[in-house]
Amino acid sequence: VSRFKMSVRSSSVSMAAAPMLTKLQQDCATPLPVLRNVAASMSDDIRAGLAVDGGSDLKMILSYVDSLPTGDEKGLFYALDLGGTNFRVLRVELGGKDKRVIAIESDQVSIPQELMSATSEELFDFIASALANFAHKGGNFPGKKGEIGFTFSFPVKQTSIDSGILIKWTKGFAVSGTVCIINFGFLGLTLWSSFITEHMLRHCLAHAGKDVVACLNEAMDRKGIDMRVSALVNDTVATLAGARYWDDDVMVSVILGTGTNACYVERMDCIPKLQGEFSPSRRTIVNLEWGAFSKGLPLTVFDRDMDAASINPGEQANSSFNIFEKTISGMYLGEIARRALLHMAEEGSLFGKSVPEKLSMPFVLGTPDLSTMQQDGTEDLHTVGSVLYNVAGVETNLSSRKIVLEVCDTIVKRAARLAGAGIVGILQKIEEDTKDAIFRKRTVVAMDGGLYERYPQYRRYLKEAVAELLGPETSQNIVIEHSKDGSGIGAALLAATNSKYGRNL
Ligand code: BGC
Ligand code: MG
Repeated sequence: VSRFKMSVRSSSVSMAAAPMLTKLQQDCATPLPVLRNVAASMSDDIRAGLAVDGGSDLKMILSYVDSLPTGDEKGLFYALDLGGTNFRVLRVELGGKDKRVIAIESDQVSIPQELMSATSEELFDFIASALANFAHKGGNFPGKKGEIGFTFSFPVKQTSIDSGILIKWTKGFAVSGTVCIINFGFLGLTLWSSFITEHMLRHCLAHAGKDVVACLNEAMDRKGIDMRVSALVNDTVATLAGARYWDDDVMVSVILGTGTNACYVERMDCIPKLQGEFSPSRRTIVNLEWGAFSKGLPLTVFDRDMDAASINPGEQANSSFNIFEKTISGMYLGEIARRALLHMAEEGSLFGKSVPEKLSMPFVLGTPDLSTMQQDGTEDLHTVGSVLYNVAGVETNLSSRKIVLEVCDTIVKRAARLAGAGIVGILQKIEEDTKDAIFRKRTVVAMDGGLYERYPQYRRYLKEAVAELLGPETSQNIVIEHSKDGSGIGAALLAATNSKYGRNL
């Protein structure tokens, strides 16, 4: 720290920016009381959202997944992953308890640009054909009906395990096409196709109130494809199911990628809005849609400005749309940092007398760039310098690079610690309402998403916050585990557990 301060002092250029950094760090601070408050508010909001629809910021969407994979599942099942960062199809061959996953194949499907302004029919025809091609390619197309677990990474009002209507679009789509391309590339996968997928889906489904599953099933009928959607699931739900297949102690799953969300296993008798009498042993998965959480977050002028600049179609000009998602997920961290750096350049001459022009472009700095910079181990922060130059056209010296790193760290630390507090909020809710005290035995939180996967500092800060909040004894029992690609297998498994035709092989 002292070396850092010295180098700041030694450069008149960065001197004026130093107090701005201090201000940013103060505004983003997440000391234990702040985290405790966020965790407690998360628990309260969970309860309020379970009580009645619209009872809190959290939608607490019922997934209709009330039996989890056991390991006994057998047969050939498909999964379709749409509306997240990628568009993927998978085929999983399940062999039951002993053999488990016999084979798994997957394909990334890219969508032609012409479909950008397609109708809903054209879009789903394309998806159906892509599925059929994939199914036939393996050569072992089942002859019987193929069953699909359909992962759709947006909030959906489910009416059953295999039907649902899109509630709203998340993950921004803010300013322009370019913005989306940059950001949906977070996982480094087919940038264009993912952008087009989301864009098309929005175009096709936005105000139509169409059932996503019906759209796909009808397309398969039109194409004469003998496949059916057996389960429509959020990506968090698919991840939980996938992780649970290998580990009975999984109770919660969290996605930290372009967007963010969480789900967990809840007792049905703890869900007043289900309006029924349930035995305490009956469970179901509930999807929080926690991106909409808003209580007690330490926000800066940069967050508020970013939020104000974002457009979320279908919503009023709401000044805090999905503010938790905007504070902690991959789509936004680079943009928050860019705004802070631009301010320091303009008001504090961080990069010298002139302000680098490109730094004014929204979303020019991506969260992956922040991660790349933070992994720089060189003495002169060479990587930081080249990222800033290549991405934002910024020329830097050592002291300005150090400030940039501090800005990244500040934004990422706040994000990860708040995500950690959110997780603790869920765990505390379960602990308080469940007889089988989860804090006194091994309990697993399954994590996935590009941000979690590719940002070591984020992972570390998140785990630190969870440990701080829970204390050493309890946190020994809470395992925060990366469940890589659990959602693919998870969706196929849920197609199996909800099979319409029984065993499928
Ligand atoms: C969506 C959620 C999704 C999450 C992670 C959010 O923007 O609203 O439904 O689970 O992103 O993909
Ligand atoms: Mg995804």
